[in-house]
Amino acid sequence: MQYRTHFTTSLVVALPIMAATDTLTIGSVLAVGLGAVFPDIDEPHSWIGCRTRGISDVLNKVFGHRGITHSLAGIFVVFLTVALMIGLTDFKAIIGLYFILGYILHIVEDSFSKSGVKWLIPLSEHSFQSGMGVVWYRTGSIVENFIFLGSILILILQIKTLDFNIASFTGINLTGNLENLINQTKSFIGR
Ligand SMILES: [Zn+2]
Repeated sequence: MQYRTHFTTSLVVALPIMAATDTLTIGSVLAVGLGAVFPDIDEPHSWIGCRTRGISDVLNKVFGHRGITHSLAGIFVVFLTVALMIGLTDFKAIIGLYFILGYILHIVEDSFSKSGVKWLIPLSEHSFQSGMGVVWYRTGSIVENFIFLGSILILILQIKTLDFNIASFTGINLTGNLENLINQTKSFIGR
């Protein structure tokens, strides 16, 4: 799956969780988005791999694409790293949790591809296909493009229907500022 489809499909899952838990912020969205593209750091030609050349080259040489970064062991390593960052630095727990959510969603999404995912690396090289071999897509195919477009449509619907609080999302109280402006104008005219 391409980075853009990982980004949009992961947000489709994450946005309702953010809305329900009142944690819908730009930081949360970016954390899920980064987590959702991060596992492909083992592929130098992927979106994240291009931006981390050197690291992505080494990871690709040592583990191969869809190796340890796409496994339960990989999730465990990421979880430990994030937990340490939260424990030892000022790193926000909610941002770390949404990064991990994005990371896990990426692997689940990849597991629906034709070739599936080797969840149990390094214990087993067995590939698991989540769609039981019936529901699947090939990376970059027309089916994936449909998934991408479909997820954008769903995102638009979600943004329209969710209790989308622009003030808490951007940190800017637009409505409040507007009310202030109207009140000031009213008192100015009244004078
Ligand atoms: Zn991947």
